[in-house]
Amino acid sequence: MPARDNFHSVMRIGPVQIGTHRDRNGQTKHAAVCTADRCGWSADYSSGTAAQLAARTHRCRVR
Ligand SMILES: [Zn+2]
Repeated sequence: MPARDNFHSVMRIGPVQIGTHRDRNGQTKHAAVCTADRCGWSADYSSGTAAQLAARTHRCRVR
């Protein structure tokens, strides 16, 4: 999983970890990060709800 500065893990849905971090503008972003090896999927969302939805619908390429 990519190292993010100030990444605070909030919850986990399947292989996807949801957390918050500050972007370079100082705004809190909600990140969904897949922890599966070789997947590498991650995305930032402006709300935790959106990040959770993305985590639930994430189809992991590696199984
Ligand atoms: Zn994945």
